[in-house]
Amino acid sequence: MKILLFNPPAPDGRAYTREGRCTQEAGVWGTQWPPLSLATAAALLRQDGRQVTLRDYPAAGRDLRALAEDLRGLQPAFAIWSTGTPTLRHDIALARLVRKEVPAAVTAVLGTHVTVRPEEALAEPALGAVIRGEPEGIIRELCRHDSGFGQVAGLSWREGPGGQIRHNPDAVPLAPEAIPAADWEGLDLDGYRLPLKGRRFLIVAPVRGCPWRCTFCTAPLYYGSRLRRRPAAAVVAEMAANAERFGVREFFIWADTFTADRQYVRELCRAIVASGLRVSWTCNSRVDTIDEETLRLMKAAGLWMISYGLESGSDAVLAASRKGITAAQSAAAVTLAHRLGIRVAGHFMFGLPGETEGTMAETLALALALPIDIAQFYVAAPFPGTALEDEARGKGWLRDAAVASQSSAVMELPGLSPARVEAFRRHAYRRFYLRPRAAARLLAMAEPAAVAHLLSPVRRFLRWLG
Ligand code: SF4
Repeated sequence: MKILLFNPPAPDGRAYTREGRCTQEAGVWGTQWPPLSLATAAALLRQDGRQVTLRDYPAAGRDLRALAEDLRGLQPAFAIWSTGTPTLRHDIALARLVRKEVPAAVTAVLGTHVTVRPEEALAEPALGAVIRGEPEGIIRELCRHDSGFGQVAGLSWREGPGGQIRHNPDAVPLAPEAIPAADWEGLDLDGYRLPLKGRRFLIVAPVRGCPWRCTFCTAPLYYGSRLRRRPAAAVVAEMAANAERFGVREFFIWADTFTADRQYVRELCRAIVASGLRVSWTCNSRVDTIDEETLRLMKAAGLWMISYGLESGSDAVLAASRKGITAAQSAAAVTLAHRLGIRVAGHFMFGLPGETEGTMAETLALALALPIDIAQFYVAAPFPGTALEDEARGKGWLRDAAVASQSSAVMELPGLSPARVEAFRRHAYRRFYLRPRAAARLLAMAEPAAVAHLLSPVRRFLRWLG
């Protein structure tokens, strides 16, 4: 039985990552994330003896014609693809292309948006099913039960053409020991390059779930709120296997919040050190889940850059978004990492509830004051299923046709238009990066081998800055 799993071609030639809570256009650095969920599903399916083809069309620079060719050539029994909020209409319409090329194929989509609004996706008659929440186990069960959708927990589906939409009960998330190493076989890994370093990288995901409830975040919709920690030995073995099989020693440690359980992080770092594996990695973190001992251990195990969700320089805005941190905690965590020789990526967001001209200026001032090496400025996106969306709808901040995206503001906040938020975002990028200090930091990080991979994103970025 042939199965095609894919991250769809990008609309308008733009590259998109559609991975759990991260559904966004490739950032200003043009970085495309490897499709972790699809590669993990591929691992489970291959354990079942299925013949899986894995494709990431945006990463490979391939378009709809390539997808059509693959469909014609493979004639898969199942075609399953990821979706994101900003590209949803385009992603769902692909069901018609699949149906045209392989009329008998079972079609199904995954992603946080369709998890919350399966009916919206199933309004497309060519689409067979929606996979809700954590997808890999559901995909495996779907491919085991090709006789019908009714027995597969976690699916929403339409009973017959034009029939009623059915929502099966939620699926039980995979137990941590049952989460396999992602299997990247079949992908062109040259499409995944670290910004500035230019080296190929892969994702390793040791932890799933996030116990926090930030109003803007879709994390709980995908992996849930309960932390699930894979055995440290399995994570180390996965890194070692990727190094041996693909020659990749750079990793992004992917988690909703990797440092949510510091004891686990220390255990994993000690296991990496004890293995003698020479790897280099980055991870995300919250500023209130870090301390010097843990950071030192992380550095010894290969951490070179830590990404903090700092969001805002205003404590009032942070409190309103239930982020549960303060600007002072952000300053302390960034300074500590910098002192220990770990690069810092700071992620900020403009246009959260309570935002004003003054609080946006506070955020920019914080970004400029701290020793941050890479800053990312987003706009607050009221993604479906978040408390932020409820609030935005309840308060009339959203126009009906608004499509949430982290790079395009849509909320009409009191006294603050979407256009103004976007203009400030661009201003923040200009102020942050067009400083000698910021340029020097970037140059210090850049590797000569990366120059070829840097030119086009830097040109694009400068054009965008205007
Ligand atoms: S800490 Fe907040 S922003 Fe980070 S993953 Fe959890 S809910 Fe999302």
